[in-house]
Amino acid sequence: MNRVSYSRRNFISSALAGSAVTHCQAQASNENGDRFDEPAQKLELHDDADVIVCGAGPAGIAAAITAARAGARTRLFEVHGCLGGVWTAGLLTYIFDFDKPGLTREITRRLDERDARRNPNPSRFVYEPEEMKILLEEMCVEAGVKTQLHTRVSAAFREDGRLRTLVTESKSGRQAWRAPVFIDATGDGDLGAQAGCGWDVGQAKDCPCQPLTMNALAVVRDVKALAPFISFNGTDEFNGPGGHLTCVEAFKAELKRAGVEASYGHPTIFPVRDDLVMLMLNHEYGIKPWDAAAISEATMRSRAEVFRIMRALRKLGGPWEGIQIASTAEQIGIRDGRRIHGRYQVTRDDLIKGARQDDAVARVTFGVDIHADSKETNKTKPINNGDFKMRPYDIPLRALIAKDVGGLMMAGRCISGDFIAHASYRVTGNAVAMGEAAGVTAALAALSKRLPHEVAWSESLAKLTKIGLRA
Ligand SMILES: Cc1cc2nc3c(=O)[nH]c(=O)nc-3n(C[C@H](O)[C@H](O)[C@H](O)COP(=O)(O)OP(=O)(O)OC[C@H]3O[C@@H](n4cnc5c(N)ncnc54)[C@H](O)[C@@H]3O)c2cc1C
Repeated sequence: MNRVSYSRRNFISSALAGSAVTHCQAQASNENGDRFDEPAQKLELHDDADVIVCGAGPAGIAAAITAARAGARTRLFEVHGCLGGVWTAGLLTYIFDFDKPGLTREITRRLDERDARRNPNPSRFVYEPEEMKILLEEMCVEAGVKTQLHTRVSAAFREDGRLRTLVTESKSGRQAWRAPVFIDATGDGDLGAQAGCGWDVGQAKDCPCQPLTMNALAVVRDVKALAPFISFNGTDEFNGPGGHLTCVEAFKAELKRAGVEASYGHPTIFPVRDDLVMLMLNHEYGIKPWDAAAISEATMRSRAEVFRIMRALRKLGGPWEGIQIASTAEQIGIRDGRRIHGRYQVTRDDLIKGARQDDAVARVTFGVDIHADSKETNKTKPINNGDFKMRPYDIPLRALIAKDVGGLMMAGRCISGDFIAHASYRVTGNAVAMGEAAGVTAALAALSKRLPHEVAWSESLAKLTKIGLRA
C-alpha cells in the first residue's frame, strides 16, 4: 500500500526543484537499476471548483449532479470515455434497489421517456446501456457539471490533515486541481488511498475478494425462442418455474450440450430488447483491483471465454442460430475494491438488526450477494447470501465521511463498511442515493467554508427538498 502525503510547502518546493531537471537527465536512482525517482514537475494548477468528484459511476454522477444543482461549482473526473461506470463501461444492464426518493426516480422517469427500461418494478429493472450513457451526459450538462473524461486521478496532497489538491493524468498531461471538498466515487477508493486514508478490502486486508466478471451484449434473432434460458424476463422471481435459478439451470444444460462450461456457476442471460441480451458468464478469482497487470490478463481471458461460449452456442443452431456478440465491456466488472475508513462503519450487525440511523442517507433492501472467491467454491456455492436473515438497514452519512483526512467524502462501493455489509449495499440504487447525499453535503460544506462532518444531515435534507430531490 502506498500512502503519500505532502504538505503544500513540499509540493511547491519539489515543483520548483523539478523545474531545474529536464526529462533527458532523469535516470535510475539506485545501484541495482530497479528504481527510478521521477523528477518533480511544475503543474498547471486549477482552483475554480467548490466540489471535485472523482469517478463517474452511479455514485459519482449522482454526487456531481446533486452538488451542481445545490449551487456548487463542480468538476467531475472519469478515466473512461463515458459516464456511468459499471452501468455503461461495464455493460451491467440490470439495476437493483432503485426504489428510493430523489435522483433514482428522476433517472427511472427519464429512461421511461426514451423507452429504455424494461420491467415496471421501480426497484429492479433492465435498462439499455447506450441510452444510459447519453442520459447521464445530458443530466451532467444540464446541471452545469464540468466533466473531464479520459482523465485518471493519480495523486492527492494534504495540508494540515486536510485534502487540498489532487493530480490527474490525461492527454493534457499532469494537471493539479484544488478544492475545499472532494468526493471519492472511484469504486476502488483510489482517491482515499492516495490521500493517506486507512482502508480495508475483501474478507481480510489482502483479499480474498469477490471475483471479477466481464459482461457482454449479444444480438439474437428471436428473444422469444430463448425465453426458457433468459432470467428476469417479465418476472423478478429467483425461484420456482420461470424464475432466475430455473433459467440458469436450463442455460447450463444448453452449455453442456454445446460442449462448453461457463466459469461462473450461475451463468445468466438478461433480456435487454427484443433482439438484444446481456450475458454474465465468467468469474475471475484472486485479483486485486489495483493490480493493472492481473486485471489486464483477467480482461483478455474473460473476453476470450465469452467468445468461445458464443461460438459454441451458435453451432447448436435452433434458438441459438445467429447469436452474435455486439459488444464486450470496456471495463471488466470489479465487485470488491478498497473500503475507505469513515466516521462510521456499516457492519454485518447492522444487517442483522435492521439498524436505523438519524442521519440515514439510504435504506438498503438488497440482500447479501457474495460471489464465490475460488473455482472450488464456485462448484458448490457460486453465490452465498450470508447465511443469516438480513433486515432492511440504514446507511448513515457518517459512513460517507473519511475518518483520517479532512475535506474528503466517499460514495458508492468505497464507503466505510465491512465485507458482508458491502456485499449488500454495493448495488446501484444505493450507490445513487449515497452519491446524492455526498453531493449535497459537500456543496453545503464548501459553500459555507465548513468540513462535511460539520453539516447536519437535516440541513442536507432541507437542501435536497429545496432543489426538488425530496417531496
Ligand atoms: C459483474 C457485476 C455485476 C453486478 N450486478 C449488479 C446488478 O445486477 N445490479 C446492481 O444494481 N448492481 C450490480 N453490481 C454492483 C454495482 O454495479 C456496483 O457496485 C456499482 O456500480 C457501484 O457504483 P460506483 O459508482 O461506486 O462504482 P463504479 O460503477 O465502479 O464506478 C466507478 C467509476 O470511477 C472510475 N474510476 C475509477 N478509478 C478512477 C480514477 N483513479 N480516476 C478517475 N476515474 C476513476 C471508473 O472508471 C468508474 O466509472 C454488479 C457489479 C459487478 C462488477
